Amino acid sequence: MRVAVFSTKPYDRTSLSDAARDGTHELVFLESRLNRDTAALAEGCEAVCAFVNDDLRAETLAVLAERSVRFAALRSAGFNHVDLRAAAELGIAVARVPDYSPYAVAEHCAALVLALNRKTHRAYNRVREHNFALTGLLGFDLHGRTVGVVGTGKIGICFVRIMAGFGCRVLAYDPYPSEAARAAGAEYVPLEDLLASSDIVSLHCPLTPQTHHLIDHERIALMRPGVMLVNTSRGALVDTAAVIEGLKSGRIGHLGLDVYEEEADLFFEDLSDQVIGDDAFDRLNAFPNVLITGHQAFFTAEAIQAIAATTIANLNAFERGGIGLHPVALDEPGPRDTGRAEPARP
Ligand code: NAD
Repeated sequence: MRVAVFSTKPYDRTSLSDAARDGTHELVFLESRLNRDTAALAEGCEAVCAFVNDDLRAETLAVLAERSVRFAALRSAGFNHVDLRAAAELGIAVARVPDYSPYAVAEHCAALVLALNRKTHRAYNRVREHNFALTGLLGFDLHGRTVGVVGTGKIGICFVRIMAGFGCRVLAYDPYPSEAARAAGAEYVPLEDLLASSDIVSLHCPLTPQTHHLIDHERIALMRPGVMLVNTSRGALVDTAAVIEGLKSGRIGHLGLDVYEEEADLFFEDLSDQVIGDDAFDRLNAFPNVLITGHQAFFTAEAIQAIAATTIANLNAFERGGIGLHPVALDEPGPRDTGRAEPARP
């Protein structure tokens, strides 16, 4: 098939070209993000391949359908950026990469926790300037602390294991509790109890209408004063304005973000020569106790390779049978189809 690959970065080109080396598919690499205005670039293609900040709302899908596109292969687990109803009505099948490396995301999440706690990002800058003073770098032992994990699917379970390994007590909340998470050391409690009892709260649930702004003013008020909040899942799980208020009041003591509500216009690009017009982002960045990374939690060699292999497998399956290997169902509330399974080994 001829496939328009949107939001291509050099590492996508390398990994996808490698995975598609048998030549079954002709991959057309495009740097543009997919949206209503760029969808026409898929002219002559039967499929598009899209990433997390591509826009597959109804108006974009309509342009794709007019251009004979019949399949959207997502290079992501999340599919909150796709209007599934419109896709079904327009006859565009959708498939995703349900798991590539839960370890990559869980390990990055742990890296944020450790760096925020021991202020590694600040220490790095100090030492470079020959400032060896320790004032302001005081951390705490993770051992014995309580960690709350919201969402115990593939990534959440890996994170439970890592934090249990540090000697933390791990509380969990998930509407679909998992035996694997329990076996890894998690104790399920209601969300309110988790928020009230945790020193660290980490989000690992999908973005759905039900989880939009899951962390808002009210829930922040339930949290322990000085709590560490980490979000490596999807930006809109967190109400940014509420979190800024929480940081200003000291209710939130540390914030680690790999995702941001308005990341689509920022992340994955080098904007170092530009003025960012997003005041909330700049406010967040100005707090010394906030550490932001630009949606890089997935970014390991193993994960990139697995994403490419599954994407090509989805394209192969669609070409053979009109449905991807990992189709996204229209009525799927969120990516939790394999949420209760043991994470696959890398
Ligand atoms: P998963 O489907 O295996 O697990 C999600 C879990 O969340 C499921 O157990 C589900 O029951 C639970 N859940 C659903 N609604 C919930 C709610 N209201 N409250 C609590 N839990 C709820 O997904 P996963 O592979 O573990 O990925 C989790 C999320 O991580 C994805 O949805 C995606 O948004 C994000 N992600 C981020 C990156 C990154 O690079 N930062 C990479 C991959 C995935």
